[in-house]
Amino acid sequence: MKELLLIPGPTPVSEEVLDALSNETISHTSDRFVKILSNCLNNVKIIFGAKNSTPFIIAGSGTLGMEMALTNILDDNDNLLVISHGFFGDRFVELGNALGVKVDVLKSNAGETVCLEEISKKLKEKQYSAVTITHVDTSTGVLADVKKITEVVKKNSPDTLIVLDGVCATGGVKEKMDEWGIDVIFTGSQKAMATPPGLTMLAFSNRAIEKRKILKKTRTYYGDILRWIPVVEDPHKYFATPAVNMVFALEKSLENIMEFGLKNYFEKHELLSRKIRNAMELFGFELLSKNSPAPTLSVFKYPVGISDIDFRRLLEKRRVVVAPALGELKGHYFRMGHMGSLTEEELFVALKRIMEVLEKMGLRFDKGKILKTFVES
Ligand SMILES: *Cc1c(COP(=O)(O)O)cnc(C)c1O
Repeated sequence: MKELLLIPGPTPVSEEVLDALSNETISHTSDRFVKILSNCLNNVKIIFGAKNSTPFIIAGSGTLGMEMALTNILDDNDNLLVISHGFFGDRFVELGNALGVKVDVLKSNAGETVCLEEISKKLKEKQYSAVTITHVDTSTGVLADVKKITEVVKKNSPDTLIVLDGVCATGGVKEKMDEWGIDVIFTGSQKAMATPPGLTMLAFSNRAIEKRKILKKTRTYYGDILRWIPVVEDPHKYFATPAVNMVFALEKSLENIMEFGLKNYFEKHELLSRKIRNAMELFGFELLSKNSPAPTLSVFKYPVGISDIDFRRLLEKRRVVVAPALGELKGHYFRMGHMGSLTEEELFVALKRIMEVLEKMGLRFDKGKILKTFVES
């Protein structure tokens, strides 16, 4: 049996995409590669809902996306407001501090969301150059209501640029960059995009590009969008060598997603998350983000008496890999990704392995009922 990689990134990569990765490396400025990169840029625009924005595909992980988002729109003394629903929201605070911008943060309790009134109040206190939203925080499994938050920002502070971290969301959840008035959005290849880790995909609105042009200085050379714009407009041009084979893999994966249908892909994520949650509840697991759960991953609290280390070790022996929780949640919760190319059949196999492990650990439950719940949810 192939290993089931149910961590919230990297996610399972299909044979087809792995095959694409191993194609012969070609010139990064050849007509053939230009066509492939252009296909990817077009599909990235569709997935982001970013028809009127400029897309980029750059070698680097999701964190490069975060960094490019801020370095291209913030000057030294600009104010940044971070809306944090966990570890990855907090990463924007660290990043802002590292860049020397002034950061304020609104932080929710684990598994909860920052309320809209708080955001509205904060925006009235100070002029923020930008606000960051993490669409799905991968530490808590919280899905932010991006549309509502953008409405609050537009109403209270129309000049504030809106940055959306879509790393654990894009592809698994609807995103409408232009319609919602997002200025910078980015994701990574290894989450719902079902491609190996190594690429970040971004899009910048015209407003964000204008802001980059008037920055007094930018703290990035490789990540400077003004150096990449000529390349995405005509990929025959060179700035820095693209990750040619990774782009092959991305092209194949995006093509698969488009063939499957973006709407169907979102629905598949909803369906899988519902099935696994309903089943896991019957063992006594509790979902952390009950009020705003993300369809791409679940953060589950262990039933009394189940040890995190033993559970994950025994599951790994059965070739199912899940992730520990982060920070204060570690030991009490675990994280399970159910995004990207994962199928219902594979998730069902994972459930059966979880059942074997829990049985071995002495937990008692009604097996038939749990399997039936998964199938019928
Ligand atoms: C994974 C993740 C990141 C970081 O991406 P890397 O590829 O690990 O650098 C950032 N934000 C969110 C929401 C993530 O899930």
